Amino acid sequence: MSDSSAQNALLPPGNWPELEPGWVWLCGAGPGDPGLLTLHALNALKQADVIVYDALVQEAILDWAHPQAEKIYAGKRGGKPSAKQRDISLRLVDMAKAGKKVLRLKGGDPFVFGRGGEEAQTLVQHGVPFRIIPGISAGIGGLAYAGVPVTHRDVNQSVTFVTGHDQSGETPSSLDWGSIARGSQVIVIYMGMKHIERIAGELRAAGRPASEPVAVVTDATTETQQVLETTLGTIVVDIDNAGLTPPAIICVGRSVLMRQALDWQSQLAGNAPRNTDPLGRGRPAEAS
Ligand code: SAH
Repeated sequence: MSDSSAQNALLPPGNWPELEPGWVWLCGAGPGDPGLLTLHALNALKQADVIVYDALVQEAILDWAHPQAEKIYAGKRGGKPSAKQRDISLRLVDMAKAGKKVLRLKGGDPFVFGRGGEEAQTLVQHGVPFRIIPGISAGIGGLAYAGVPVTHRDVNQSVTFVTGHDQSGETPSSLDWGSIARGSQVIVIYMGMKHIERIAGELRAAGRPASEPVAVVTDATTETQQVLETTLGTIVVDIDNAGLTPPAIICVGRSVLMRQALDWQSQLAGNAPRNTDPLGRGRPAEAS
């Protein structure tokens, strides 16, 4: 595939790396909004002759691929046993060995609950050269689109990212929810919808109050994004009433309150902030 200047029209001038035949680039596509793609990802899309993409990668992003690129869907739906994971990894190996320029495109960041590490390790074990391109993870970028800062000085000096289920679809048995509840000021849960009742129960049993604020952000950063503000005590009923379905990022902690001031999408639509001092500090934001 030629590397014409028209092809690179959208990339600013620079020494962009070349995706060479026989290589695999393992790349994050961000949480949804195509504007959240990195320039390295765009550079990759323009050069790849085969793109293996996941369920959470938006169509609009694939539209930026080279017109002749072969696009292969490798989606796995959360909760189902992912027997196909090894097949996907080996397919990447085969295509690279066949001399293709392979782009493996994953939602969010490839190394955040995305099995990117395993795929890369398989490449290493088969001697396939690769590059990693990070992406904006849904647990950070998705919350930002909802107006929830994942850290906020008045609230948290730490944040825990946790997965609500493992590859078998169960909540991971290695997780000690009690310790997480006691030790984490803010908890960001990926893949948490299926077991939210159990997770909320465990957090409460370990002492988190029923009144603790929670945000549920579905389809974050896309046109169908929905945000539910709820509490640990009412989350199950509220998710049900709102009819929310995965994919969702669930954020537990007082940083969720900041949305009352920082819901920039609502403000973009012309609404006034609900509350300019949601934590009730009674002082300018920057005062220490
Ligand atoms: N590597 C991805 C996470 C993959 S695991 C990342 O870094 O974001 C899949 C889970 O990610 C989903 O079940 C959901 O919890 C979360 N997720 C990914 N994209 C999302 C989106 N646009 N909106 C809400 N949650 C999302």
